[in-house]
Amino acid sequence: MKNLIFAFVLAALACGCSTQKAVVKTPTFMNKVIAHRGAFKNTGAPENSIASLKAAIAIGCGGTEFDIHMTSDEVLVVNHDPKFLGMEIETNTYQQLLTKTLANGEKIPTLEAYLKEGYGQKKTIMVAEIKTSKISKERSLRLATKVVEMVRSLKGQAQTVYIAFDYDVCKRVREMEPSAPVQYLNGDVSAEKLKADKLDADYHYSVFQKDKNWIKNAKALGVKTNAWTVNDEKIMDEFLVQDIDFITTNEPELLLKKLTK
Ligand code: MG
Repeated sequence: MKNLIFAFVLAALACGCSTQKAVVKTPTFMNKVIAHRGAFKNTGAPENSIASLKAAIAIGCGGTEFDIHMTSDEVLVVNHDPKFLGMEIETNTYQQLLTKTLANGEKIPTLEAYLKEGYGQKKTIMVAEIKTSKISKERSLRLATKVVEMVRSLKGQAQTVYIAFDYDVCKRVREMEPSAPVQYLNGDVSAEKLKADKLDADYHYSVFQKDKNWIKNAKALGVKTNAWTVNDEKIMDEFLVQDIDFITTNEPELLLKKLTK
């Protein structure tokens, strides 16, 4: 009888455990350095190419940033400008974009290929910028939804940070992924408001320069800070003294060197 009760208790415990919600891991950065559009400037790799992503990983950046747009047939691709080598991304199909080639021989990377490459290692975090659609808000939000779904399908939640200029896009990601880091880019929202919406700040560095207490105040509130795009050594020092959380830069080699001195 005792054995039966014991077995029953064990079964009940096992059942309880299996119904508990799976804990989603969040990214841990090994340093403050975020390579802007991959490590491209000093490597010769085209920005936002798979080669620039590999270079950012190879030199040991804490994170590597890249930009995502959606083609007319809703393929997610990685490129900075709304145009890829002169062709509008949003009004061309993916096949049409394949007629153009980057200087290193690569075609426009799909988000899927880019993420798979990034998730093949565990050190450098993928900083995914969801670009604002020139066509409609609805399209921006659909892109945001599709990016989150792709990260999930590749099981990359513990290796991904989301950034966007559109506040509604940030909120859409927040709704879909309650524990994912989401950083707002446009520089016009207070740390208090970001905290209320569970977002972080990835602002142009001049915003943090204008208000010398911005970073300190954000820290007190638990809001993370990231400055873009800091290429000047003196400005890097300015923010390192304030213990900013991240610096996004076209000079990741320089910043890494400073941090290991
Ligand atoms: Mg960007």
